[in-house]
Amino acid sequence: MVTVTPPANNAASNNVFDTAKIIVIKVGSSLLVDEEKNAINTAWLAGIASDIARLKAAGKDVVVVSSGAIALGRRLLKITGGKLKLQEKQAAAATGQVLLAHAWMDALGTHQVQTAQILLSPDDTETRRRHLNARSTMMALLGLNAVPVVNENDTVATAEIRFGDNDRLAARVAAMVGADLLVLLSDVDGLYTANPNSDDTATHLAQIAQITPEIMAMAGPANASYASGGMITKLEAARIATAAGCQMIICNGQSPAPLSRLEAGANCTIFAATLTPHTARKQWIAGALTPKGTIRIDDGAAKAVRGGRSLLPAGVVAVRGQFERGDLIEIENNAGTVIGHGLSSYGSDDAATIRGHKSNEIETVLGYRGRDEMIHADNLVISDS
Ligand code: GLU
Repeated sequence: MVTVTPPANNAASNNVFDTAKIIVIKVGSSLLVDEEKNAINTAWLAGIASDIARLKAAGKDVVVVSSGAIALGRRLLKITGGKLKLQEKQAAAATGQVLLAHAWMDALGTHQVQTAQILLSPDDTETRRRHLNARSTMMALLGLNAVPVVNENDTVATAEIRFGDNDRLAARVAAMVGADLLVLLSDVDGLYTANPNSDDTATHLAQIAQITPEIMAMAGPANASYASGGMITKLEAARIATAAGCQMIICNGQSPAPLSRLEAGANCTIFAATLTPHTARKQWIAGALTPKGTIRIDDGAAKAVRGGRSLLPAGVVAVRGQFERGDLIEIENNAGTVIGHGLSSYGSDDAATIRGHKSNEIETVLGYRGRDEMIHADNLVISDS
């Protein structure tokens, strides 16, 4: 093992914590599960829980992406032997997830911080309709001051469950909630120019402005495994996060209170984001999709959306086309000019039914209590002119 002399103090890491409003923290199985006892490393969990409670007390929103379900469930179900079959992993995840969620609830509960379990499938982050659902639940939980504890819904995953997938899941979650900072707690203190375990010339990189092919090459394939879960998946996570306007940090999470260490200037690699999460989300909405329909709005609503407000059903005068909840639609003013785009909270049939109605009438008209907005301001892009 090569010792690389770290810079004495990575002062920039303090700064990212100060300015971040929504922080996603990814915890890997190797940190959370004590391999010898094959049980939760409760001392470590207590340390990170007090770090998270401190961030909450400082007014930050925190989301945890935690692995460990399979490792824990395997022990509980006494599944022995080497590599698990997919159905064994799924069975292990189903059992271990109960313990995992409970452990987080207990650890954060000590600090009067409420937790909530969210299990996501890749589809929930990639398909816009499902993305909207998962996002609004997550935002509601943050608004209620809870810490969502997220894992992949391994029990019903159809593809092979790959170790390291939670790095990418964490990046997608960061994009979904508009996080400013994603911290991957790992067993290495960041990215090196080569594998530090086998190459004397490997140098630590503190800041990455852009993920170039040279940077990708540093992670593998020869060096792929130098952090558990693989450095490649961490760089892929960095790509997803930074494109969504979220800075990402890789740091060593093995110490008792890793976030405090990071704030105190511990060695890490910071991947810079060039956009803000807000701009990135608007770009994502305005992206290359073809609108599935059109909504015509009245002058009052046009003024409101130009002022950054949500579009309410009351301001909708006509609905054209066939679309589903979460689809991209065009918004035109009363003169028929397209003034923007957005993701609809309602499918076209329901949109037509509630058109012109006040939000508090939606339940009576539709028979269910939907969202108050036809298009929420977060999902709306109005053109400049
Ligand atoms: N979702 C898996 C688990 O909780 C782990 C995946 C990963 O570590 O990336 O066991």
